[in-house]
Amino acid sequence: MSQTTETAVESEYNTVIGGEVRPAADGTTFTTPDPATGEPLTEIAAGKASDVDDAVAAATVGLEEWDTISPQERGRYLHDLANLIREHADRLAKLETLDNGKPLSHAYADVETCARYFEYYAGIADKVHGDSIPLTQEYADYTIREPLGVTAQIIPWNLPTNIFGRSVAPALATGNVAIVKPAEQTSITAIEIAKLALEVGLPAGVLNVVPGFGADAGAALSSHGGVDAISFTGSVPTGIEVGKSAMENVTNVHLELGGKSPNVVFPDADWEAALESTANAIFANAGQVCSAGSRLLVHEDIHDEFVADLAERAASLSVGPGIDDHDMGPLVSEEHFEKVTDYIELGREEVGEPVTGGNVLDHDGYFIEPTIFDGVDNEMRIAQEEIFGPVLSVIEFSDEDEAIEIANDIDYGLVAGIHTENLGRAHRFARDVDAGQIYINEWFAGGEETPFGGFKQSGFGREKGLEAVHGYTQVKNVCATIEHR
Ligand code: NAD
Repeated sequence: MSQTTETAVESEYNTVIGGEVRPAADGTTFTTPDPATGEPLTEIAAGKASDVDDAVAAATVGLEEWDTISPQERGRYLHDLANLIREHADRLAKLETLDNGKPLSHAYADVETCARYFEYYAGIADKVHGDSIPLTQEYADYTIREPLGVTAQIIPWNLPTNIFGRSVAPALATGNVAIVKPAEQTSITAIEIAKLALEVGLPAGVLNVVPGFGADAGAALSSHGGVDAISFTGSVPTGIEVGKSAMENVTNVHLELGGKSPNVVFPDADWEAALESTANAIFANAGQVCSAGSRLLVHEDIHDEFVADLAERAASLSVGPGIDDHDMGPLVSEEHFEKVTDYIELGREEVGEPVTGGNVLDHDGYFIEPTIFDGVDNEMRIAQEEIFGPVLSVIEFSDEDEAIEIANDIDYGLVAGIHTENLGRAHRFARDVDAGQIYINEWFAGGEETPFGGFKQSGFGREKGLEAVHGYTQVKNVCATIEHR
């Protein structure tokens, strides 16, 4: 039996607009492949500008109804959706693995994270309130946090289910309605979760999904005058385009962009923990993570031994179809595979042979070995550019000041990590490094509750935690004079 038959992939996945599951208005579809085989997986509705128009109209109607529903009741809908996502975890995780390529256990974790976002923000729905501001006795002043209205979530392919929950749950919890544009490589789980939302009775138009290509559905959504706010997660060049078209309508926009994050290891670090954390930082999800630790900065005293141990660990990782739950699955698409293999060739030109990896697997899908380049200079392109694959650049440093200087010498500022037992050093690093989140002694530490977003070209605005509530609401100040009788 083929993987596809085993997991009951439907032959076509459609838009979800105004409570209806329907083909694109012009009836067109595109084929999405299984990255583990390169074979067609299924057909996806190719949404275009007219579908976006329909979704905005439906969302505008949905907003009126959502507005009449109390925050407590909104929270209950989101709780019900979290529970239903968990009930469908087997199906959703398998679909995600077949669509994206990631190891099955990682897909399960992403589905649970998505459910957890809906649960977390369900609990917040009735706790979003303003302040009262003391003025003179002649006035009473208070603020109200109001929803932004019709919001758009344009999301990438690397963590489709996870980022769906991360960007949609806080929008709905705070009284907004949502139109999601999943990445063309991985549209299935967004469509399936929107269908589950209909099952829990979410009013029509509150959560819509328009799959399609960035240049069609994505551009139509980000330039639509009926959209009040955009949450964009993706690459810097697309983020800039989305930001520009949002500004044409003065639409609120929030950008979660790429990274090239420094992971710094000092000689006093717990050796095993630092190795584990460092390998996870770059090889989890085959390095296709915005917050991957893709620049490893190692102190000169431990450099040779640490890199040798890390290379041994990397070489021991199993690489194969995600559905068999290997340590690393394939890259998401042929196009992305070519981009990453080009960077590996560039690495060979810049520093020579990698200390491990550097080869593609003899397999039909888009598989690449975990790869480590040593002797990298921070000025090189493989140190400065986001490769978004299982390719690590190792840079040696000699003291704390130099480590911080190298860490900051980059246009990105998404995350940064340090491995050391020296508390003072760890907190100096946290203070001095320009990044939206700092990991101390464990890469990817944190959860749904912890704010996430970038400094510098990694974007602006914050998702996750209570910060997302601020991002999805606008403050109205009310000031009343109470002196006249
Ligand atoms: P991408 O920028 O190519 O695409 C992201 C989304 O934008 C997709 O849905 C795509 O269809 C859409 N899009 C493309 N062109 C568009 C246009 N002109 N107008 C509107 N939408 C358009 O990014 P990707 O390759 O899917 O994802 C990888 C990138 O995402 C990496 O740079 C990664 O670091 C970043 N990322 C960032 C975060 C974060 O939280 N900061 C999280 C995950 C991924």
